[in-house]
Amino acid sequence: MRYDVVIIGGGASGLSCALTLASAQGRGWEWAENRRYLVLDTGRSDMNRALFKNVPGVPTGTLGTELIDRIKEQIKGFGGVDFVEERATKVEGSKGSFRVYTEGGKIYESEYVVLASGFHRFDIECEGVKVVDNPKSPKPGRVMVEHYGDYKVREGLYVAGLLAGVSSMFTAAAGSGVQVAINILSEWAGKPVVIHDVPEES
Ligand SMILES: Cc1cc2nc3c(=O)[nH]c(=O)nc-3n(C[C@H](O)[C@H](O)[C@H](O)COP(=O)(O)OP(=O)(O)OC[C@H]3O[C@@H](n4cnc5c(N)ncnc54)[C@H](O)[C@@H]3O)c2cc1C
Repeated sequence: MRYDVVIIGGGASGLSCALTLASAQGRGWEWAENRRYLVLDTGRSDMNRALFKNVPGVPTGTLGTELIDRIKEQIKGFGGVDFVEERATKVEGSKGSFRVYTEGGKIYESEYVVLASGFHRFDIECEGVKVVDNPKSPKPGRVMVEHYGDYKVREGLYVAGLLAGVSSMFTAAAGSGVQVAINILSEWAGKPVVIHDVPEES
């Protein structure tokens, strides 16, 4: 199966990336139409253990599990995103012709790949990825993937969330996922893109 973007990891950063990509549809932008996105996830987001009191705009006391469900519902409202519960094991290829392999033996082809699998470990075989200690983690043993400028690891390959070295705060992780989505959309558009909605005039 072929996708425009495969996102590995469906936590704060991966879901935020998917939401922004999906929200580009239906705006008369020809380059954003008929895109297909895939989120591959093993369901072990740090959000599962969180009770949020400091996420801007999110009601104090929201469970991380509730927030995951809400973001997924938001994404489904736009459409174009498939969710598959499976572990990615290997990424090979280059921009336009990546292949993402899963533990269950599936292979997904994709123009872009976003690594958003958190900072606990990085055990995906992936050429050109340099894994280093994560300096923003208060606990030892956490990792990040080196990137240059705006989360790009190499052409077509981006990293987001704690794996990109942002602090372990929901909004920081989500923001990096959004930035990666905007970077990809801007590459397709050939110019800087933002996605803003305004109230309908009454
Ligand atoms: C106990 C706890 C409480 C917290 N409380 C707060 C708080 O109050 N406020 C706040 O702002 N932040 C809080 N956080 C931090 C916040 O939850 C994280 O910063 C955020 O979830 C990180 O997002 P991420 O996308 O980088 O990683 P995650 O959300 O951890 O998502 C990574 C996803 O990748 C998946 N994955 C990993 N490897 C693979 C693979 N090979 N293939 C497919 N999928 C894979 C995992 O299953 C996971 O779903 C808390 C965290 C914890 C642990």
